[in-house]
Amino acid sequence: MRGFFHRHGKFRPLATDDDRAARQIPEDLWVKCPRCQELLYSKELEDNARVCPKCTYHFRLRARERLALLTDDGVFAEWDADLRPEDPLAFADGGGPYGRKLEDTRAKSGEAEALVTGRATLDGRPLALAVCDFDFLGASMGSVFGEKLVRAAERCAAEGLPLLTVSASGGARMHEGLFSLMQMAKTVAALARLGRARVPHLALLTDPCYGGVTASYATVADVVMAEPGALIGFAGPRVIEQITKQKLPEGFQTAEFLLAHGMVDLIVERTALRATLATLLDHYARATGQPDRVADAPAGARPAAMADPVAIAESALVGAGAEARGG
Ligand SMILES: [Zn+2]
Repeated sequence: MRGFFHRHGKFRPLATDDDRAARQIPEDLWVKCPRCQELLYSKELEDNARVCPKCTYHFRLRARERLALLTDDGVFAEWDADLRPEDPLAFADGGGPYGRKLEDTRAKSGEAEALVTGRATLDGRPLALAVCDFDFLGASMGSVFGEKLVRAAERCAAEGLPLLTVSASGGARMHEGLFSLMQMAKTVAALARLGRARVPHLALLTDPCYGGVTASYATVADVVMAEPGALIGFAGPRVIEQITKQKLPEGFQTAEFLLAHGMVDLIVERTALRATLATLLDHYARATGQPDRVADAPAGARPAAMADPVAIAESALVGAGAEARGG
């Protein structure tokens, strides 16, 4: 009889509705869309590249998820995976020393740094990818992040391999101070060399993309693409409002706003991304495959076919749309 009053043995109390619901619906089976509030079956969401099928809200992707989406059969030969950041300033803040934070972040994220670089193929077209992982310290750009991007750009220049950067970042990594800020100049210089080698750099800006990343390598590409609804800027809107003491316009810093104001060439829905990239890569392959122009052009100049990235991007969008329509 004593057991009756305790929650064990023969007389277990009936499960409450909450308990039953928790058991029947595992936490990760359903995902609520933050925009349309619809409950989405996670399998359906995965199958749709983590884009809400009801309202096309683009959920954020981890670096490895993005790579799985953009590579053939998920095959990806990673570069410089063993490069590890140091702690040159012996930096510590309220959260503890930078060194410990790096260790914790590595364990939690499963990544060694916030940028993953390597080589793959997209529908049979070879390319290099440099993809940010926002879960690693907000994908802030530190010295190893910058070094990995520079090495990737140098390999691409040497091998004539197109480079796709996929950025989502909070900006420079404050824990590395000046070493971090220096990466802005360093990455842009490497990409300028890539341009002189006439190898394309395609950039995809995803939510959120801010600070030193937006202000450096991510926006100096031949074609700057963005995902729908992505927030992109240098300083955040609150800071800008405080400094300028002005009300910011509706939709400020969204990909759509930036497209209208000329900072972004193209907004690409994730489900059309592969087709768009394939078309762009084909255009560039054709453009650079004209030896007379490449041999005659002075260093630093692009072949005529590369001079107007927006025209190329727009024709890519038409191509991707046609492919989508054709099934
Ligand atoms: Zn939705």
